[in-house]
Amino acid sequence: MLTQVPVQSKSLQVYRPVVGDNVVDRLYALAEPLRGARVVHVNATAYGGGVAEILQSLVPLMRDVGLDAHWHVIEGSDEFFNVTKAMHNGLQGMDVPFDQGQQAVWVRYNRLNAAHFSGPYDFIVVHDPQPAGLRHFTGGRPGRHWLWRCHIDTSTPTPAFWKFLVPYLSEYEAGIFTMREYVGPGLRFSHLAIIAPTIDPLSPKNRPMSAEEARRIVARFGVDTERPLMLQVSRFDPWKDPLGVIDAYRLVKARVPELQLALVGSMASDDPEGWYFYDRTLRHAGEDFDIYVLHNYHGVGNEEVNAFQTVADVVVQKSVREGFGLVVTEALWKGKPVVGGRAGGIPLQVIDGQTGFLVESVETCADRVLHLFQHPEERARMGGRGREHVRRHFLITRLLEDYLRLFRRLEGMDIQEGRTG
Ligand code: UDP
Repeated sequence: MLTQVPVQSKSLQVYRPVVGDNVVDRLYALAEPLRGARVVHVNATAYGGGVAEILQSLVPLMRDVGLDAHWHVIEGSDEFFNVTKAMHNGLQGMDVPFDQGQQAVWVRYNRLNAAHFSGPYDFIVVHDPQPAGLRHFTGGRPGRHWLWRCHIDTSTPTPAFWKFLVPYLSEYEAGIFTMREYVGPGLRFSHLAIIAPTIDPLSPKNRPMSAEEARRIVARFGVDTERPLMLQVSRFDPWKDPLGVIDAYRLVKARVPELQLALVGSMASDDPEGWYFYDRTLRHAGEDFDIYVLHNYHGVGNEEVNAFQTVADVVVQKSVREGFGLVVTEALWKGKPVVGGRAGGIPLQVIDGQTGFLVESVETCADRVLHLFQHPEERARMGGRGREHVRRHFLITRLLEDYLRLFRRLEGMDIQEGRTG
């Protein structure tokens, strides 16, 4: 029922030149008392979206420091993923209905997955609402420590969803959120950890790529690499506001006629809304052939996303709601300033006027994008600061360290550090 996701092996040693010897040595030392611990991450999809992206690197690195780490995805169906997408939206505050039929579907699939989930594990990390019922429906038997990792903004959830989910969540020993504000009303854990997501600087999506290689890849999609390019990479999802990005592009294009826009988005297997919103995006783009709307079915994979982010002059992430926004991290890491919506975790990364600009409307977005196109030196300066900001705070080694510290806390190995919750 649950499928084990195969991951490539990785060695922390190769991260030394990027993050420094101190960081790598500290990680091995922190992991030492946890050697052999059985860890499993459970989520809903093996590809598409930020969670899969993180686990692809985190699981192999956990193995490299000596943990017996695994990654399982739950089984679902369109019926289930339609319900969990509604949950995703409702938990982020969208006013959508959540009736008993939908609740029953969620319960049925969680019960089914639980029936096929066995341990024993020392740490079970359940990601997001889709599989959140596993702790309850297994009676907690497969694991000693249960952690729920929330990747979305549940600060102001629609009550019907929250009321339904909180009893399931409350059974977890630890809760992990990207920002403290995201811990929704009335939710308590014995251990609370605030951990922002991170990127892997050596993954195919973020490895250093020469401008020449990047231009060659991007040109395959018909983009003219001699002309300016504005880019947003994200799922086709109302919260990411691709239609607003097109509106902003049109305002800029009136001043920079040679401008092109690429909207690159993957279709995650747990996101049935994606195709609908992709259609809407295409309609909104109309007959403007300087707008490129591409996704993984066109052959846009990790290397291609890397190439687009490397080639783009200005990167936009005009989200109106956002968990963290790994695409922002990815772009900053490539030295690109980001014009981002003032939402969720974006302000942790986009420091207004320093590493990019924070915007709340189409007009401001267009204004800041135009400014960056007109000031290439400022663009380069901001890009440099953005990369440094990511190096300090948002690389995968930091995430690994946070998990190791949390595991040690749960095992009572770091009594003096106490609780941060
Ligand atoms: N992504 C991708 N291809 C695409 C669009 C997105 O590989 O066409 C990746 C993107 O690079 C990032 C992740 O999906 O690593 C999206 O994570 P983010 O936190 O930005 O948003 P989420 O989709 O989790 O809401």
